[in-house]
Amino acid sequence: MIDSHGHPITDSGGPLDLSSINVQLVTDEESRSERARTSPSRLSHELLGVRLARYLGCEVEEVPAARAEASRDWPRYVRGLFMSANLRGLVLDPGWNLDATTAAADSFAEMVGCSVRPILRLEPMVDRLIAAGAGAGEILAAVEQAMRGAPASGYFGFKTIIAYRTGLAVDPYADLAAADRSLQDSRELEVRRRGKALRDLVLRRALGWAAELKLPFQIHTGYGDSEIRLGEANPLLLEELLRTPEGLAATIILIHGSYPWHEELAFLTLAKPNVHAELSEFNLHTVATVANRLERVLEMAPAARVLCGTDGHGAPETYWLGALLIQEAWAALRDRWAKQGARQSWLSEVETAIMEGNTGRLYSF
Ligand SMILES: [Zn+2]
Repeated sequence: MIDSHGHPITDSGGPLDLSSINVQLVTDEESRSERARTSPSRLSHELLGVRLARYLGCEVEEVPAARAEASRDWPRYVRGLFMSANLRGLVLDPGWNLDATTAAADSFAEMVGCSVRPILRLEPMVDRLIAAGAGAGEILAAVEQAMRGAPASGYFGFKTIIAYRTGLAVDPYADLAAADRSLQDSRELEVRRRGKALRDLVLRRALGWAAELKLPFQIHTGYGDSEIRLGEANPLLLEELLRTPEGLAATIILIHGSYPWHEELAFLTLAKPNVHAELSEFNLHTVATVANRLERVLEMAPAARVLCGTDGHGAPETYWLGALLIQEAWAALRDRWAKQGARQSWLSEVETAIMEGNTGRLYSF
């Protein structure tokens, strides 16, 4: 499998805190201990513990210690997980934890023993420039320069997390004057909520530059960590942007299965020939229904534009669990569709496309 979406992992092993594999961000000791207290009551925590215990050859209660022991040789341990999950390549967004050693594609590739294709996340630059008091024109020019230089810097695509900033209801008519005004008017807000018109304009232009560069563009949709305002992450909010010349020209990948808006994602993918559906992240947190979610997208969207991934991050076990669960889910779905009459040859083509072929083609593996 080639993983269509992941992030850097930690630089070293040690005991694994299963409760840290969670969408709930912790900011202080109180929230950390609350998370530690409630996390074991989540199904995903339970099933990851049980599977890891089997993998490590120990009891569930012994997982943290057994993991510490098994991960003494960290690269070897990580490589073992990737091999056992059948992962041979991954698309890396280093923008989550830029400080990790594995934020550099080369070191990640060396550690896990598979090919890595990094993509450039736009928000770290935009946020930094807004915080520094830059104007809209200056920010647009900086983003354009970074994007045009991306191929030479080793990037194979782009990503926006505007859903985490001012939301997916992008105004396609935001112009430079409105962008500057939005920066002025939002001075009292935290940076992540500042400059909606500016961020809308940057995204529309960025899609145009990505189209010129012929590089794919990931848009975060659906749930994420607890910073997200979920109501602002519905992929249908993107419809006006997707109708602009830039929105029609770019190769767009809506990520994370747009959880919980799978049918909405399936429709956009079917209706718009440049839109792709990327399925990841929910296979870490809604582990009982992965096949169901896969089916809700795949029964409508063309498999030729569906990509499977993990959203692995931090602990390498997230890559391992996400990859295993989505492959098992597909196997179950494949059986069901065969019983309904789908031919084995067609099912094999779908499997290759969603597990490797589409990601391989879009990111030049
Ligand atoms: Zn991610």
